Amino acid sequence: MGNTAVTLKPFVCLEQPELKEPVTFRSHIGISKETLDLLHEKGRQYGLESILPFSINDIVTAQWVNLKCRYGCSQYKANWSCPPATPDLYEARTILSEYSTALLLVGNQNRNDFYKDSNRNRTDQVKYWKGIVSLERLLFLKGYDKAISLVSGACSLCKKCAYPEACRFPMEKRPTVESFCIDLFGTLKNLDIRTRVAMELNETFKYYSIILLD
Ligand code: SF4
Repeated sequence: MGNTAVTLKPFVCLEQPELKEPVTFRSHIGISKETLDLLHEKGRQYGLESILPFSINDIVTAQWVNLKCRYGCSQYKANWSCPPATPDLYEARTILSEYSTALLLVGNQNRNDFYKDSNRNRTDQVKYWKGIVSLERLLFLKGYDKAISLVSGACSLCKKCAYPEACRFPMEKRPTVESFCIDLFGTLKNLDIRTRVAMELNETFKYYSIILLD
């Protein structure tokens, strides 16, 4: 075979793009009163009593929280929202370092059949879980492109989690607060929020979720 001549195409020089200011999805940081009022209004429908913006620096993380998940909790290695399916301490800290503001979402429960009526419990938990995820979506649509929820309690959207098979509702799947190695009591203390463990069946107890905002 003879040599095949290769024709080189002329090198086309494109103009250097002009350097512009980065375009942000949102024109401000933090959260406006108007958005917060909207969240409160929606949140009430899901049983939330308050929503508080706070600095990520107030979040306390610790390895012992993971120990509590590993020992003494039935959801360990049994739920996609819990360890070991969720970020470890190192990854959780890296993720948190990419945020400056978060929202604390407080709900409360006062039912003396809480430890007896597991069906009703699950209905309440599903409503609460969906509520937190829908507020996160609302924030996304408002321009908070980084918003992600860390929800209170293990995901119970399914009666029995599909873990280790694929999650049945991946769009609703979120990690729990504790799965992020967040020491909730330490964090609430930093926020000057006093809380205690409910000791009696008829006591109101609170649950806390977090939305990482921006
Ligand atoms: S949606 Fe179902 S399968 Fe997915 S994490 Fe929740 S309980 Fe598990």
